[in-house]
Amino acid sequence: MSLRFTFKPETEQQLTTFELPDEIGFCKYTVPIMAVAHYRDGIWQDAQITDFAPLQISPDCLGLHYGQVIFEGMKAFYDSADHCAVCFRWQQHWARLNESAKRLAMPEVPQPLFQQLLFTLVAKSQSYLPTGVGDALYLRPLMFASGNGLGFGKNDSFTLIIIAAPTAQYFNAPLNVYVEREYRRACEGGVGGAKMAGNYGATYLASQKAQQHGCQQTLWLDAKEGRYIEEFSAMNFFAVFDNEIVTPRLTGTILPGVTRDSVIEIAKKLDIQICERAVSIEELTEQIQSGNCQEVFACGTGATLIPVASLNDGSSVYELGEWKFTQKLKDALQTIQHGQGDKHFDSWITRIQF
Ligand SMILES: *Cc1c(COP(=O)(O)O)cnc(C)c1O
Repeated sequence: MSLRFTFKPETEQQLTTFELPDEIGFCKYTVPIMAVAHYRDGIWQDAQITDFAPLQISPDCLGLHYGQVIFEGMKAFYDSADHCAVCFRWQQHWARLNESAKRLAMPEVPQPLFQQLLFTLVAKSQSYLPTGVGDALYLRPLMFASGNGLGFGKNDSFTLIIIAAPTAQYFNAPLNVYVEREYRRACEGGVGGAKMAGNYGATYLASQKAQQHGCQQTLWLDAKEGRYIEEFSAMNFFAVFDNEIVTPRLTGTILPGVTRDSVIEIAKKLDIQICERAVSIEELTEQIQSGNCQEVFACGTGATLIPVASLNDGSSVYELGEWKFTQKLKDALQTIQHGQGDKHFDSWITRIQF
C-alpha cells in the first residue's frame, strides 16, 4: 500500500524548525503530523501522514459508544553514537496490538503497514526527538471502531492512528502504593490482558481512592481470591526477596508488559535470580516486615522502572527504602534503549535514520 503525504506546507516547515524547550515534560507537546489508516470493505486502505488535527467522528461513532478501542505505548530514543533514532522493541508492540485486536474482534494490522507508518512518523520527527538519557519520542498507536450507527452489531470500519510526543525522562519520585481490596481490575477470561481503553477507564475511581490515602498508584489483586498480586493500573509489579527478583506469572489477567519482559531478560543476562510466580499480598507484607523484601518496583514504557517507597494496606503502611536492583536494571535498560547496550540485545532495537 502506498503512503500518501497530506500535510500542509506550514507543517513541513514546523517539522524542520521546531526547537525543543528545556522543559519538555511528559507529552506536553505533540508532533504536528500523525499517521492514519482506515480499514474498510475487509482491507486496510488510505494510509496517510497528515496534519495532527481533530478527527472527524460522528456522534454515533461505534468505538465511542461501545468501547472497541485499543492502543499501544512505545518509544524511540536518540542514539548519540550513530545520530539516529532507535525504536525499542517495536515488533513486540505491534504483535501485542494485534493480540489486543484479536480479543476485541478487531482486524489485525499487517506488519508492513504498521512499520511504514511508524518509521515514517519517527523519521520525520527528528526535531522533536529529545537527546537526553531517558528522554524519548513517545509513540501512541490507537485503533478504534470508526463506523457509525447505534446498532450493537458487527463493526466493519476501523481507524488506526499513530501520534507522537516528545517526553522527558520520568521524574523518579518513589511511589506510595495503595492496595485495592474492594474493586478488581481483571478476571479470568476477561480483557485484562488486552491493552484496551476500558481497562484504564475502570481504574479512575480506585485511583481517586489511592490519592485520598496519599498514594500515587493502585496495586490490584486477583479477582478470584483477592489475595494474589497482579499489577498496577498501568505498570507491572516486581519485588526483590532475598536477592531474587519475583514477578507474577502472566495468567491472562495481567497485561504482558514489554518492559516486564525486558527486565526479566536483562536480569537473566546479569545473572540476577529471577522467578515468575504467584505472590500473595500477605507474603509481600510479611517479607517487608521481616526485612527479607528489600525492594519493590513498578515498570512500564512511560516511567521505565520506578521504585516503590511504601505500601498502604488500608490499616497498615509498609515502608521500603532501598533500590539497588531497581537502579541497576533501569540503567541497563536505558543503555540498551539508546542503542549502546550489549550485542545480546541487538534484536530489541531498530535504528531509523533521519
Ligand atoms: C501498558 C501497560 C503496562 C506496561 O506495559 P509496557 O509494555 O511495559 O509499557 C502494564 N500494565 C498495564 C495495565 C498496561 O496497560
